[in-house]
Amino acid sequence: MAPPSPRPTLPPVTRKIASLRKQITAWRQAGDTIALVPTMGALHQGHLALVQSARKKADRVVVSIFVNPIQFGPSEDLSSYPRDEKDDRSKLAIHNVDLVFAPDVEEMFAGDFSTRVQVSELSDFLCGASRPGHFTGMATIVAKLLLQTLPDIAIFGEKDFQQLAIIRRMVRDLNIPVKILGHPLIREKSGLALSSRNRYFNEQEKLIAPELYASLRRAADALKQGGAKKENEIEAILAAARAQLIESGFRVDYLELRDSDSLQVIENLAAYKRKGGKAGARPKARLFVAAFLGKTRLIDNLALTFPAQKSRSKK
Ligand code: AMP
Repeated sequence: MAPPSPRPTLPPVTRKIASLRKQITAWRQAGDTIALVPTMGALHQGHLALVQSARKKADRVVVSIFVNPIQFGPSEDLSSYPRDEKDDRSKLAIHNVDLVFAPDVEEMFAGDFSTRVQVSELSDFLCGASRPGHFTGMATIVAKLLLQTLPDIAIFGEKDFQQLAIIRRMVRDLNIPVKILGHPLIREKSGLALSSRNRYFNEQEKLIAPELYASLRRAADALKQGGAKKENEIEAILAAARAQLIESGFRVDYLELRDSDSLQVIENLAAYKRKGGKAGARPKARLFVAAFLGKTRLIDNLALTFPAQKSRSKK
C-alpha cells in the first residue's frame, strides 16, 4: 500500500503590517513577483479559484483575511460573519499560498483613524444605494491592503462586479501601482453563486437560493430573444423576473440591466446594441441582482452576450 501523501504544511500567518512589509521586501530583493488576493475568510471554491489564478501569475501569493468592520452597516452581519481561520489556512495550504496576512482590527485601524477613500458616482447605485457607506469602507480597506502589500497584481472576483469596477477606478485615480485583475464568478452546480454567506441558509432556503441565478438566466433569454426592442420592454421583462423572485420567497433589492464598463442603466437595448458599449466596443450588457432570502442578502450578475453585429460594407 502506498504511504499516505504528506499533508501540505500550513502557510505562515502574519498579523503585523511591519512583518508583512519585511517579507515582501525580501521577496522583492530576490526578484520575485507578488500577487495579493484580498478576502474576508470563510473561504470557498470561489476564493480558491482566485488563489489558483494568482499562483499561475506570480512567484509569491499573499492572501489577506480580514473581516473589515467599516464596510458593514449597523444592522448588518458583522458579528455573525463566519470566521474559521484554521480551516481557511488548510485550504490555502493545498494551493501553496506563501503568506496569510490576517491583521487584527487594532492593527488596521488606530483609535483615531479618520481617513476614508470615497469613489463617488460608481458607488451611488445598486449595492451603494442600499448599503450606505459600504463601498467607502471597502475602498478604504482595499487601498490600505494594496499600499501595505504593494503587490504586482491583485485579483478580485466578478461576483462583486460593482466592487471590482470601484477598485479599478480607485487604483487609476490614486495612481496605486498595482495591476487589478478580475476573475469570473464561480457557481455551484445548481447555478448558485458561491458565497461565504451561503452558510447561513436553512434547509428550505438552500432549495430556493438557486432560483436567483435561474431568474437571471430567464430574464437574459427574454432580453436576447428579440424582446426589448421597445423602450418599456426591458422594464417589463425585469418586472416579471422580480415578481417571480418574490413568488419564490425572495425580497428583491434590485434587478437592473446595465453596461458592464460604465455601469450605466440600459434603457433601450436595440439602440444600445447599435451604438455598442464603451467607445463603440462590442456591447457588454449585464444583469445585476440583489435579494434577501430570509436574513441573507445575495448578489449575482450575468453578462448578456449578443452575436456580433454585421458590419455595414462600404460599396
Ligand atoms: P469576500 O471574502 O466575500 O470579501 O471575497 C473575497 C474575494 O473573493 C472578492 O474579490 C470576491 O469577489 C471573490 N469571490 C467571492 N465569491 C466568489 C465567487 N463565487 N466567484 C468568484 N469570486 C468570488
